[in-house]
Amino acid sequence: MVYFIGAGPGDPELITVKGRNIIEKADVIIYAGSLVNNELLKFAKENSEIHDSSKMTLEEVIEVMENTVQYGKIVARVHTGDPSIYGAIREQMDQLKKRSIKYEIIPGVSSFVAAAAALEKEYTLPGVTQTVILTRMEGRTSVPGKESIEMLAAHGTTMVIFLSIGMIDELVEKLKTGYLEDTPVAVVYKASWPDQRILRGTLKNISGLVKEAGIDKTALVTVGDFLGDDYELSKLYDKSFSHEFRGAVK
Ligand code: SAH
Repeated sequence: MVYFIGAGPGDPELITVKGRNIIEKADVIIYAGSLVNNELLKFAKENSEIHDSSKMTLEEVIEVMENTVQYGKIVARVHTGDPSIYGAIREQMDQLKKRSIKYEIIPGVSSFVAAAAALEKEYTLPGVTQTVILTRMEGRTSVPGKESIEMLAAHGTTMVIFLSIGMIDELVEKLKTGYLEDTPVAVVYKASWPDQRILRGTLKNISGLVKEAGIDKTALVTVGDFLGDDYELSKLYDKSFSHEFRGAVK
């Protein structure tokens, strides 16, 4: 059996109980060494075999999985955050399916939710926006034309941009086509890690702040008025608003 596990954003206590239980019993662990916290490997049993996928190709990963499961052993394939977001999990699942190898996916805390926690913000603020766009800027990996930063920025929603901090100047220029220059921006570097850093600014000054701080990887760029202080109170806890679980309070 192969288990795909979301390791969470960094803090080893942010993996799920289910994910940790599997790491504890796995015979083979394949983890994304570039981003998954090594501390998680301390949960592994003593004689487990550990591979760092950042040095492996898809073929090599699948080969390790195949060689392990044929002896009835367990593989834990550990991805950073949640595997459904830029995890390259689909190509692995399809290869396993082709070989009739069983797998299960255990979700994880994505870095974008860890970033909201670090910022102490709510992405879907009533009266501001009810939509979160998770995206990346085109780099060595292409992005479909209809999803360019300019087109997405036109909606003025909350936007969380992955994998793009190294192109901050270009990113900001594109964002400015949709958002006003004084729209707040927060960059969260290594959310939930001991060396987490937060930079707060606007589209006008964030590039400079990022460069000054020397941040060029493992960061999310969050944009939008959810970072501001104007919003409406929710209907959910509004005393004049009744719903399924609570009548209106008189
Ligand atoms: N599956 C992961 C994302 C993998 S893509 C998830 O759900 O979070 C890798 C990118 O995610 C990094 O370039 C960075 O933009 C972001 N990232 C991952 N971990 C992060 C963290 N702890 N803090 C900030 N950004 C992070």
